[in-house]
Amino acid sequence: MSKIRKKYGKKFCKYCANKVETVDYKDLSSIKFALSERFKIMPRRLTGTCKRHQEILEKAIKRSRQAAFIPYVVDRNNVVSSPFDLIK
Ligand SMILES: [Zn+2]
Repeated sequence: MSKIRKKYGKKFCKYCANKVETVDYKDLSSIKFALSERFKIMPRRLTGTCKRHQEILEKAIKRSRQAAFIPYVVDRNNVVSSPFDLIK
């Protein structure tokens, strides 16, 4: 827990800080902040993302999965340090 907390640093909403109003499901660079190594949506308590932006992100991530931009599940044996290297 403390390890994870360190990784994500202080709690603040990155999307508010950048004045993001909408998250494009095709914009993986925005979405990937909200995903774990296994493409799970990061909980707000870890990322500090506000409720409003978390909801926007969840919608974007679901659309992105339907459009196959990101996988639903990642094989446990195939976990890499940066799964986004797999996406071109
Ligand atoms: Zn926010």
